[in-house]
Parts: sequence; C-alpha cells; structure tokens
Amino acid sequence: MHASTAPALSVVVPAFDEQEVLPAFHARLTAAMDAIGLDWEVVYVNDGSRDGTLPLMLALRATDPRVAVVNLSRNFGKEIALTAGLDHARASDAVVVIDADLQDPPEVIADLVAGWREGFDVVYAQRAERHGESWLKRTTAAGFYRVMQRIGGKVVLPKDTGDFRLMSRRALDALLQLREHHRFMKGLFAWVGFPSRAVIYDRAPRAAGTTKWNWWKLWNLSLEGITSFTVAPLKVATYLGLLTAFGALVYLVVVIVKTVMFGADVAGYPSLMVVVLFLGGVQLVTLGLIGEYLGRIFNETKQRPLYLVERHLPSHPPA
Ligand code: UDP
Ligand code: MG
Repeated sequence: MHASTAPALSVVVPAFDEQEVLPAFHARLTAAMDAIGLDWEVVYVNDGSRDGTLPLMLALRATDPRVAVVNLSRNFGKEIALTAGLDHARASDAVVVIDADLQDPPEVIADLVAGWREGFDVVYAQRAERHGESWLKRTTAAGFYRVMQRIGGKVVLPKDTGDFRLMSRRALDALLQLREHHRFMKGLFAWVGFPSRAVIYDRAPRAAGTTKWNWWKLWNLSLEGITSFTVAPLKVATYLGLLTAFGALVYLVVVIVKTVMFGADVAGYPSLMVVVLFLGGVQLVTLGLIGEYLGRIFNETKQRPLYLVERHLPSHPPA
C-alpha cells in the first residue's frame, strides 16, 4: 500500500447472495462515482455467498481495475463483512459504506462527498421515506430508535439512519480501533463522534433478491444494539427489586394491623400463587438479562479474530 497510489475515496460494499443486483449496482455506482471526479475504488466483500456473487465480483475486477475483492472464509454477517471491507479500504481521504441491493442509491454519494468537502468527518444518509417496507417494520424500526435515544446516554444514535454513510480517514481510523466482536455498527459509528451531519434521502425498495433479515434476526440485532450500547437494563433489576421490597414492607404493615384488629384469617391461596409466579418470572427475566451480558463477555474474552479472509485482491493503482 503506497500513499501516493491510494485512491481518494473507497466505497465498501458487503454482499451476501447478491448475484441478481451486483452488475446493476456496479453500473450505477460507476456512473455516480465518475460524476464526482475523484480517484476512487470499490471494495466488494463477499460474505460467504452461496450463489454466483464471488465469480461476478472477480469478473468485475477483471474488467475494472478500481475493483477490490475481499472474500471471507464463510458468512460472518453484515456487520463483520462491513468491518472487513473497511479494514481493506485503501482510501487516503474518505470511505463510503453502502448496501449492494440498491436500497441506498449510489447517486446520494455525491451529496455525502459534498458534506465532507464542507468539512464534516461523518456524513450519514438519513431516510426520509421507507418505500416498500411494511407498516409494522416501519413502526418497530421507529420505536427502536426512540428507545435507543432514551437509554443511549451521551452517545446519540441518529434516527432513521443505517450504515449508509461517508467517513473521513481519521474517523475511519478511529472506528477501526474498536475491535469488539459484538459489532452493532450504528452504535460504533455513533460512539466515534467527530463533526457529523445528515443528508436526507429516499430509501428505495430492494432492486432484486430478498432481504436477509427476518423478525428473529431483527429482534436479535435490537438486543445486540441495546446490550453493546448501554448497561441500563442491568439496573432495571435493582429498581424492580427495590420497588417490590417496598411494596412487601407496606403489605407487611397492612397484614400486622389487620391481624391485630380483626384476628388472623386464612390467607388466600390464589393471591399467594400470583405473587410467587410474578416474582419467579421477574427473577428469571432478570437472570436472562444478566445472561445476555455474560454471554457477550464470554464471546469477547475468547479474543478470536473478527473474520478470516480466504483471499484479498486489491484494486490496481492507476498505471
Ligand atoms: N449482507 C451481508 N452479510 C449478511 C447479510 C447481508 O454482507 O449476512 C449484506 C447484503 O448483501 C446487503 C447488505 O448487507 O448488501 C444489507 O442486507 P439486506 O439488504 O439483506 O438488509 P436490509 O436492507 O433489509 O436491512
Ligand atoms: Mg437491503
């Protein structure tokens, strides 16, 4: 890697089973990038695709010297694939992260670059409208951002913002220092900070293929987001416990007074059952919550590499 031959911009594209859209994506990206007028490369990361994505990438690289290919040894998931791409980006000035499915229009990159030229280190694309996504997905996504905003503390997660963004070289270098395994990229981006601004865009529906997300994965991503972002849930048990103990104390007084004044009657079995089950439930949920954090500590302590590269073919420096 020679600084003199490094392109100004790197575009990082994680792809998993994207053979239907990749050629169209590359054509649109090329047109959009050439219009900007800076030296650029695109880093395609093949995240263990089971279809023809890798051969397609290699074919693109054979005809276009600005293409770099990073082939991971298996599917590692989008967040890790993205990190692999960022690790291999050679850009001297800035990197852009974009999805391969054309939901993030490559034409918006020009606006991101404009924001960067104004002096911002991070220019993130904020969705104005979610076309082609169900009402349920839109509301749950909105709710998630609201919750994160509340519990995030000092780190503010911009709402309706995905991974689609531009980062200056120094912001990228800062981000690359965060090597945790549980990578909630939106949270990591936010943690890094630096002068940032938003560019509003319309999120298109997928051009082809299907989303790799299902509800279970989205739920887990939300858990990932919350647990890697804040330890606030761990405190819930403390306050729930305090509240219950206080309630029990009040009830104790009530029972004593009642017994003294009216004598002892046989306490109701149903109410006892409700209290036992309720407390048991609360305790199990709290244990599970602690388990979520414990499991993550376990995974981090193993200190494994984030990903393994099967092969890396860099973009060619201009002759
Ligand atoms: N992706 C990936 N690895 C995965 C799943 C997805 O690299 O395990 C890529 C995918 O090819 C796409 C991007 O991440 O370029 C976003 O994925 P998708 O469109 O399925 O997510 P959505 O847009 O529905 O959030
Ligand atoms: Mg998508």
